[in-house]
Amino acid sequence: MDIQTNRLDRGFYRYQAEFEEAALRVLRSGWYIMGKELSEFEERFAGYIGAKYCVGLGNGLDALWMAFRILGIGKGDEVIVQGNTYIASVMGITINGATPVFVEPDEYFNIDTSKIEEKITDKTKAVLVVHLYGQASQMDKVVDICKKHNLRLVEDCAQSHGSAYKGKVTGTFGDIGCFSFYPSKNIGAFGDGGAIVTDDEDIAKEMRILRNYGSEKRYYNKVVGTNSRLDEIQAALLKVRLEHAEEMNKEKQDVAAEYDKKINNPLIKLPGVREGADHIYHQYVIRCKRRDELMAYLKDRGISTIIHYPIPPHLSEAYEYLGFKKGDFPVTEACADEVLSIPMFNGITEEEVKYVADVLNEFK
Ligand SMILES: *Cc1c(COP(=O)(O)O)cnc(C)c1O
Repeated sequence: MDIQTNRLDRGFYRYQAEFEEAALRVLRSGWYIMGKELSEFEERFAGYIGAKYCVGLGNGLDALWMAFRILGIGKGDEVIVQGNTYIASVMGITINGATPVFVEPDEYFNIDTSKIEEKITDKTKAVLVVHLYGQASQMDKVVDICKKHNLRLVEDCAQSHGSAYKGKVTGTFGDIGCFSFYPSKNIGAFGDGGAIVTDDEDIAKEMRILRNYGSEKRYYNKVVGTNSRLDEIQAALLKVRLEHAEEMNKEKQDVAAEYDKKINNPLIKLPGVREGADHIYHQYVIRCKRRDELMAYLKDRGISTIIHYPIPPHLSEAYEYLGFKKGDFPVTEACADEVLSIPMFNGITEEEVKYVADVLNEFK
C-alpha cells in the first residue's frame, strides 16, 4: 500500500460537480475580485463561526499580522504565544515589530494556561492563542487571564475551523479570530485564502480598508494598506466547502476514533482531548520517543508522515535575533523531537486506516 499523509484530490472529487459549477460561474461572470461571491462567503462564514463580521483576506498570515496592526500592537510591545506553533503565528506578531514571548504547551499541544501569567510584563499587550492541530485551547482560563490583565486576545484558528470549547466556537473568544484557507486546512481553498472574524464593527471596517490599499472609496487612501483580498473564485469554492464543513469535520473525527481504538502500541502516545474541548483533527498527531526511527519504518511500509513542526520558532534561524538557545523551552523542544502526524484526510478508506494502525502496532 502507498498512503500519503494527505490526499487533497479525494476531497475535490467527492464534490466535483459543485466545485466545477462554482468555478465556471465565476469564470463566466466577468467579475473576479471583490464581488458578490466574496460578500456572500463572508456572511456565511461569519454565520458558521457565530461572529458578527467576517473579512476575507489573501491568506492566514495576513489575517494575523493585519489583526495586530489594527489592534495597534507593534514595536516595543510583547505578545504571548505558545512555543510549539507553526512559524506563521510568530511572524504574525513580529511583522509589525512586536516581540513574541513564548509559553510552553500542555499535554494537548496547546498553550499551558498555568504558565501564562508568569510571562506577563508591563509591555504585554496581547495573547495569541493557537488551537493547534484542531483542538480548542483551554479558553475559559485564557479569557480570564486576558480580562484580569487587560490584554487583547487574538485567536489563530488556521487549524480549528468550527472547533469549539465548551460549545463556543474558536475565533469568537477574543477581539479577532484569524483563519487560513490554505488547501490542506479543514476548510481549504484551491489556492491561498484567509479571513478574520470579529464582533467589533470598527475592526471589521478597518480591516476592509487595510486589505485594499487603505482605501474605502476608490483612489482615496486613508492609511498605507496592503493588497490582501480573497478572490471571487476562491470565495465561490469556499462556499461549497463551507456547506460540507460539518460532515467533513465529522468524517475526520470518525477516522480519529478508529485510530484511537485500533492503535495500541505502548511505544506510541495517542493525542488526548481535553474535557470540554472539540478536536477537528486538522492533524492526528502521535508521540514517540523514537520518532525518527518510527517515521523511517512507516516510510518503508508505504506510509508517509509529516512532522508538525521539526524546528520550534525560538530555534529557527529567522528568530536567531531573539537570542534563544536549545534547552530554553524543554517541553516545546520535546514536542519537536517526538511528534508525528499520520495520514488523516477526507476520503481516507477504512482499509487504509486499518493498515496504518496495524503497521503502527507492529513497531517494536
Ligand atoms: C496555516 C497556518 C497559518 C498560516 O496560514 P497561510 O494561509 O498559509 O498563510 C498560520 N497559523 C497556523 C497555526 C497555520 O497552521
